[in-house]
Amino acid sequence: MSAMTAAIPVGRLAPSPTGYLHLGHARSFLLAWWDVRSRGGRIVLRIEDLDRERVKPGLVDQLLRDLEWLGLDWDGPVWIQSADTSAFDDALARLTARGLAYPCVCTRKEIEAAQTAPHASDPSSRYPGTCRGRFASLDEAERISGRPAAMRLVVEPGAVELDDAFVGRFRCDVQHDAGDFPVSRRAGEPAYQLAVVVDDARAGVTDVVRGDDLLPSAARQLLVQRALGLASPTWRHVPLVVDEHGRRFAKRSDDLSLARLAAAGVDPRSIVRWVAERSGFDVRERCAPGDLVRSFDWTRVPRTPVVCGAAELVGLTGAG
Ligand code: GLU
Repeated sequence: MSAMTAAIPVGRLAPSPTGYLHLGHARSFLLAWWDVRSRGGRIVLRIEDLDRERVKPGLVDQLLRDLEWLGLDWDGPVWIQSADTSAFDDALARLTARGLAYPCVCTRKEIEAAQTAPHASDPSSRYPGTCRGRFASLDEAERISGRPAAMRLVVEPGAVELDDAFVGRFRCDVQHDAGDFPVSRRAGEPAYQLAVVVDDARAGVTDVVRGDDLLPSAARQLLVQRALGLASPTWRHVPLVVDEHGRRFAKRSDDLSLARLAAAGVDPRSIVRWVAERSGFDVRERCAPGDLVRSFDWTRVPRTPVVCGAAELVGLTGAG
């Protein structure tokens, strides 16, 4: 979906300070950076720190150090997502006023207990719509139930289709897989799907490059964008970095964190070369991200996951 026609592309890096950045992040951030820089565009760095229970102290500074170490830069001040939440409140108010979101007081346990049939996706997370049409307002929901209320988006049944500029057409039945999903959590905190949409729009983001584990989220974000009357960015979801068994690299992220590689004396240009070799570049030497801006070409980026096995890792951390 590339409804935006801004003259200058705007991309973003949106790390969450909930765990160390690793090679998988390096790969998707480099692709996001090359995508926009190769077209003379701007990059926003947004720290997604809304999930307070999962945010780890000190990680924001570490993230910034890791990105700089890798040779990535961005334009303007670092955007801390939690610093200004007023736009999320406005968005929630608009959704509520249009009858597109409703309060929900169900607990996780109740949602799990309400499942009647096994499900293709995570069965415990599909919401069966218990609170839809039940309360006139959030205040009423909280007063009657005596519990804090979340807000959920009304999701129509049927396939949601989006055109990903890298993956192609992607279909997903959000109602079947997730049901009416949360746009805010208890205590009025915006949920990830709403926060991403609102902040991408606020920053004028035209191009989103990220791991393809977020493709199902893109379908949900498309629904939020439609409900708010916002254009969708151009999405490119890229395959993840996996180990030799095909497991998501993230599982071993602490061992293979960029911070640890840096502490071990690895030359960051070796990491850039490693990513570049697996992203269609013809590169023979260690390099900085900026050295490759001119030769970036999406049509050469492989569509298969990037494998980083133990032997490769030794190569990467060894001679460099
Ligand atoms: N903050 C999310 C993460 O670190 C990424 C969100 C996004 O790119 O939309 O997984």
